[in-house]
Amino acid sequence: MGEWSDYFEDFPEENPANYADGRFDPELVKTIHQEEQKISDARAEINRLLLSAWLNEKEKHYLATEECPQCGLKELKTYNIKNSYYLCECQDCGTYGKGKTHEDAIKAVVDAFGDGLNWREITGPWSR
Ligand SMILES: [Zn+2]
Repeated sequence: MGEWSDYFEDFPEENPANYADGRFDPELVKTIHQEEQKISDARAEINRLLLSAWLNEKEKHYLATEECPQCGLKELKTYNIKNSYYLCECQDCGTYGKGKTHEDAIKAVVDAFGDGLNWREITGPWSR
């Protein structure tokens, strides 16, 4: 490993990573990497903003906290999202379920037994 990086340090024109469009141009390669990093950072920021907006939106539609059918703790938060669907998320075990009615959402939580669901791994309503 170290041998190759030492070699490429001495002979940068031998390093395929220093080529862009088939031309040896380490500065262009560096610029491309910097631009790619900016795009990646911007995407991460957009995702963070969308997640934050979703969490705020969800709290506006909070309905109740009940006993979770999975872990038995009174940690199952239910939301009625814009009167179009119900969403249940356990604040302890992470199991979640969604349904047209409150009962359907609870049933989805019950049916998720053993699925290892965790709503915290979901970044927004679009991915449910
Ligand atoms: Zn639970």
